[in-house]
Amino acid sequence: MAEHVPQLIILMGPPGSGKGTQAETLRQETGMNYLATGDVVRELMARAATGDPIGAEMKERYDRGEPQPDDLILKAVKQKLTELSLKRGLIFDAFPLSLPQAEGLEKLREDLGLPEPVAVSIEISEEEVIKRITLRKFCPKDNSAYYPQSPTYESNTCAQCGAQLVKRDDDTAEVVSKRYREYVGRIKSLVEYYSEHGQLIVINGAQSVEAVGDEIRSKLSQYAQSRR
Ligand SMILES: [Zn+2]
Repeated sequence: MAEHVPQLIILMGPPGSGKGTQAETLRQETGMNYLATGDVVRELMARAATGDPIGAEMKERYDRGEPQPDDLILKAVKQKLTELSLKRGLIFDAFPLSLPQAEGLEKLREDLGLPEPVAVSIEISEEEVIKRITLRKFCPKDNSAYYPQSPTYESNTCAQCGAQLVKRDDDTAEVVSKRYREYVGRIKSLVEYYSEHGQLIVINGAQSVEAVGDEIRSKLSQYAQSRR
């Protein structure tokens, strides 16, 4: 299916939308590369010790508890992009996260010869996210997540290793609600930006993992055909 999929995908969705799972499936199916801003920041900060200038600046800010500014995020993404193979396309996760970053991405595309992006926004209500996250349990050993529809949820055991499942302390309605609202506030202008450019695909996130995956595949394929 790789040739039917746009080659630069921006994946968006609040915590609890299943974005990470969908990114992983898409990556495996298409062979596209994957770039998550959080991973890039962590990786470059780890290189600070070996003299990476961007990593060093990020680490200083991180140690002072300051957020990373847009221009630094853009520099980090650019550096990482030059290290990745982009032959089979790229999935961005948590990038861009602001309008200046989206505009910066346009400049990066020019510099690096990247294709036009398409934003895939997995939408889901606050109520549904709260329901999902407050009910989920984790395996303390391998960190796999379990939801009420998972076969071993009721018996409270991990299907991989048999350990007793536990809930996380910060999976409360209050914490989830706060994170959800922060996400929506941050993403609003970006959704408008990609919508205005005719580069937005909206996915119903309140479905099963399989149904969300199917909707992403079919809408990406329609989108790719419509742009030919
Ligand atoms: Zn386990």
